[in-house]
Amino acid sequence: MELTCYGAAGEVTGSCHLLQCGRHRLLLDCGLFQGSREDEARNARPLPFDPVSIDAVVLSHAHLDHCGRLPLLVRGGFRGPIHTHAVSIDLVRILLRDAAWLEAADVERENRRRAMRGKPPVQPLFGQADVDAVMRQMRPLRFGEAEEILPGVTVRPSPAGHILGAASILLDLRDNGVRRRLVYSGDLGPRDTALIPAPEPPADADLVLMESTYGDRDHRPREETLAEIGQVLEDAWSDGGNLLVPSFAIGRTQEMLVLMAQNFERWDIGRWKIFLDSPMAIEATAVHDRHADQFHAGARRMLGTRRLHDVLPNLHETPDTAQSIRLNSVRSGAIIIAGSGMCTGGRILHHLAHNLPRSQTDVMIIGYQGHGTLGRRLVDGAERVTIHGHDVRVQARIHTIGGLSAHAGQSELACWYGAIGGRPPVHLVHGEARGREGLAARLKADYGIDAGLPRHGEAITL
Ligand code: ZN
Repeated sequence: MELTCYGAAGEVTGSCHLLQCGRHRLLLDCGLFQGSREDEARNARPLPFDPVSIDAVVLSHAHLDHCGRLPLLVRGGFRGPIHTHAVSIDLVRILLRDAAWLEAADVERENRRRAMRGKPPVQPLFGQADVDAVMRQMRPLRFGEAEEILPGVTVRPSPAGHILGAASILLDLRDNGVRRRLVYSGDLGPRDTALIPAPEPPADADLVLMESTYGDRDHRPREETLAEIGQVLEDAWSDGGNLLVPSFAIGRTQEMLVLMAQNFERWDIGRWKIFLDSPMAIEATAVHDRHADQFHAGARRMLGTRRLHDVLPNLHETPDTAQSIRLNSVRSGAIIIAGSGMCTGGRILHHLAHNLPRSQTDVMIIGYQGHGTLGRRLVDGAERVTIHGHDVRVQARIHTIGGLSAHAGQSELACWYGAIGGRPPVHLVHGEARGREGLAARLKADYGIDAGLPRHGEAITL
């Protein structure tokens, strides 16, 4: 039995691990490389294995860096089942359709440019038909329920926190009288979110493959983060303009809605008009409502019979473009939540173009901003930015909230590993050099264990 990492080895995107068990070949995740232009160019290269030779896929969760190359796998001839939690099936549908739509728009723009220069057109990475094929191959899993997906391969997902439906995968493998238990952490969340249950570590394993995104540091304590958000809301109200919140459609948006409901009086939320101005976030919120039984007990108690989209009496959803454009005339008292989360596209760009030049405006950044993105330039204090080709002066106040990460910090990661009995060998993936070396040092100090740091294409024997 052998495990080979074909992505997220020394980096945080492109998760894809090939497991060979006897004559069966199984993929754990098949995600997109994301980030710089060079990173994204890697998605267009042929997969490092024959898609036809893969018997099945087990998908940990819906983020594109874990599921985004599935359409390429299917396009390459993979016809097997894709096993994942039922919630992830609904979220993957939203994310992959959106990705295919963005890809088509990008390619169309690019081909117009190429036509003017007499160059041949380029093809999109994948299209809606490929996404539809992926969705037809999806098979739902439930937390805590074991299922034999191939002869000698049984999987059991357990909650990983992170986003709704995110799973750690326990695999019981059997070949020629040899038995091995492999645990793949997926992406692990923090313990104290507003909505998502805490990760549940498995009882034991022979080998652990574990994420290390924030392996080198702990996040700011939750209570400090809540106080920080309260202060931003207070500042924004006294500045007398609008508050813009660039937000990821899945996870962060719903977390923010619940936080505002929980702190409705403390933050005086009632005086604002709140607009959820993102068709994708509205759809993702509806998926959360359909799967409300998956929220943690505290969130279920707080919500009672209410659904997320009516948890705030002053929340307005604006799915139509015309409704979104009307927000341009709102000069004060509005909280506008819109994507994309790093301000690289979407409706937030229109709101930033209209509001950044006004000193009454506040912007609250609640998620990670990648290098080279507009969001990062704002965080770094740019005085002028370019939006849709126009020069925009930044007079608004920019606030950064660092403590709302969907990933566990170093101490939580170390605890998760420590709860697994028998100190099994562990290999660290899904972290840049700093993250996984930081976690390796922590695991050495806490448990005396030497963690493996697999390179791209390196095989690990089970
Ligand atoms: Zn993730």
